[in-house]
Amino acid sequence: MTQLLKSYADVVGQDVIRHLSQLAAPLKGLKVVHVNSTRTGGGVAEILEKLVPLMSELGLDVRWEVIKGDTGFYQCTKQFHNALQGNTSIISEALLKEYEATNQRNAGELGPVLRDADLVFIHDPQPAALLRHFPERRGKWIWRCHIDVSHPFRPVWRYLRQFIAPYDASIFSIADFVQMLPHPVYLIPPSIDPLSDKNMDLPAEEIREICARYHIDPERPMMLQVSRFDRFKDPLGVIEAYRLATSFIPSLQLVLAGGGATDDPEGDVVLAEVRAAAQDDPDVHILLLPPDAHRTINALQRAAAFVLQKSIKEGFGLTVSEAMWKGKPVIGGDTGGIRLQVINHHTGFLVSSPEGAALRIRYLLHHREKLAEMGQKAREFVRENFLLTRQLREYLTVMVALRH
Ligand code: UDP
Repeated sequence: MTQLLKSYADVVGQDVIRHLSQLAAPLKGLKVVHVNSTRTGGGVAEILEKLVPLMSELGLDVRWEVIKGDTGFYQCTKQFHNALQGNTSIISEALLKEYEATNQRNAGELGPVLRDADLVFIHDPQPAALLRHFPERRGKWIWRCHIDVSHPFRPVWRYLRQFIAPYDASIFSIADFVQMLPHPVYLIPPSIDPLSDKNMDLPAEEIREICARYHIDPERPMMLQVSRFDRFKDPLGVIEAYRLATSFIPSLQLVLAGGGATDDPEGDVVLAEVRAAAQDDPDVHILLLPPDAHRTINALQRAAAFVLQKSIKEGFGLTVSEAMWKGKPVIGGDTGGIRLQVINHHTGFLVSSPEGAALRIRYLLHHREKLAEMGQKAREFVRENFLLTRQLREYLTVMVALRH
């Protein structure tokens, strides 16, 4: 067993790792390519950064490719994302043309790699239209959807479906998101890496230093939401919940930590709205972090009394498992993948409004013993269900199935 696999065995047990090696044995040497649209920022990049090396470690020949586009392309794919999560606005013909042209260009550039692959995983809608440029494909192509498509805006889904239907299979994160497609559909929830800078144990001193750097008072309770500045993450709702809660707990501090993803053009506008809503409250800390600030986020999650993820729509919400792994209960929006992780009253609370969130904030801060008890349950729930090794096992299973 390699050193890396041994390190995972220390967290999840030897048997889990042996099982992975067994599953991977018939796939050794297989050429696997993952394609998405950003190397940093957002959950997909976060997962691929860890999944790809681990697949290599198990003997697969894995590559991660990132498609490149211009402003119009990202505007279009952001609108896809918004529409798949329910926004009802029509996307202009010009942007759709840009989407198709960008995929065509990238198909040209990635041609040799994709033509040669045994298995191609295409993540999300951005690179979905690549497949039509490989009519003579050799390998199996899988569309991996990470977003909440439970109630897509139909015209946009119909448009995207023409590119997705010819795939050999699709993978969705949860059953609620599954759409009618003429090929096998698999369900695989995402996962977090317990050994990454984002999730590993940190020295207490480092946590203290990071809090001091951002002027967070360690003597007073702090609650945290880590998210890109995106309306679906409802940062304004978080500020409202904080305001309501401070009438009961005046010492409360709020940290909203976020950064941009290179494929998300709306971040600046939402950030400005968040700053305006926070006014000049010295206990609301809005942190704009660089994409590699993993240890900072890790420290903030550990310093928080509990964590919020008040999304209105959420494909999965890696931030939820990240917080739970650190023994923090999560107050999460009652939506999408958050429901898989937050077991109401056990690993956290599901809420549907700022008022609901404020009530739960008050409850947790008035019942400190519950914080620890729910936090412990949360950590174990993640160990069982949402670590990278579980996701890898499921990917391997799908790969074995598709090779036959
Ligand atoms: N993240 C980060 N820096 C930020 C904001 C988010 O590193 O400023 C990370 C966060 O810790 C998580 C991922 O990006 O690992 C976000 O994934 P999630 O599924 O929560 O949301 P998405 O951005 O994919 O909608």
